[in-house]
Amino acid sequence: MNYRHAFHAGNFADVMKHLALVAILTHLKKKPAPFVVIDTHAGRGLYDLMSDEALRSGEATGGIERVRGLGDGPEALRLYLDVVRSCGEARYPGSPLIAAKLLRPEDRLVAIEKHPDDARALKIALAPFRRAHVVEADGYARLPAHLPPPERRGLILIDPPYETPDEFAAAARAVAGILRRFATGVVLVWFPIKSAAAANAFCSEVLQYGPRKLLRVDLDTGAGGKRMASAGLLVANPPFGFDADMRAALDAVAPGLGHNGPARPRLDWLAGPQ
Ligand code: SAM
Repeated sequence: MNYRHAFHAGNFADVMKHLALVAILTHLKKKPAPFVVIDTHAGRGLYDLMSDEALRSGEATGGIERVRGLGDGPEALRLYLDVVRSCGEARYPGSPLIAAKLLRPEDRLVAIEKHPDDARALKIALAPFRRAHVVEADGYARLPAHLPPPERRGLILIDPPYETPDEFAAAARAVAGILRRFATGVVLVWFPIKSAAAANAFCSEVLQYGPRKLLRVDLDTGAGGKRMASAGLLVANPPFGFDADMRAALDAVAPGLGHNGPARPRLDWLAGPQ
């Protein structure tokens, strides 16, 4: 495990993923019944944007720093920026901290992280949140023990590092297991788009597992050189209205996140609503 998210925190891919997380949570909170969020690859929870890692990569300057100052905007963007700003100028919240800050007292967070240093940091970041539980473990191996959740409502976020070529297959298998055990759960999977063919094959594989609704969201920043220019999200069982919210939020951040022109968002229903 060489991957350290401290190099990438707040980059354009985090912005798109965390906008989706906020939009999904906003929809789940519209119903009074409690729900669970399970974050299988949770990270540290809070990142120092002045750390050596962050300064060396400079990735946040092409991501959150380009949108932090946006004023009025769609609801998901406003809520996301409120959470980011609540962490302080030079800090960026990871997915488990964003979720913990947005959950209601009756909701629950399970944050799984394998790297011992990151799990330790995550426990500190989530200490103030009574309903957040950190597990130091392999997210794929531990996930089945939490499914189906007693609440029968919830979101599973799968955000692996894709350090090895078999990570796409592992992520797809994890989605298959979730759909078997918890067919109505919302599943959010992030993936890099370094090869269009690999990304398409991943989406086709997930589609084969039969989700009734499957939405693909891509964001192409147009960045050149060695940097990752595009990333995607697969959302199984997105709440009604999520696609419109995500489109509005991405349209609002696209001018800031693009290189040589605005970034290009694209949303495609692979199964279900058009
Ligand atoms: N989800 C986080 C966020 O949005 O703030 C970022 C997660 S980062 C992309 C991937 C994380 O997965 C890293 O912190 C890494 O240490 C951890 N990791 C790698 N392999 C893992 C595994 N098998 N199970 C759980 N965590 C793992």
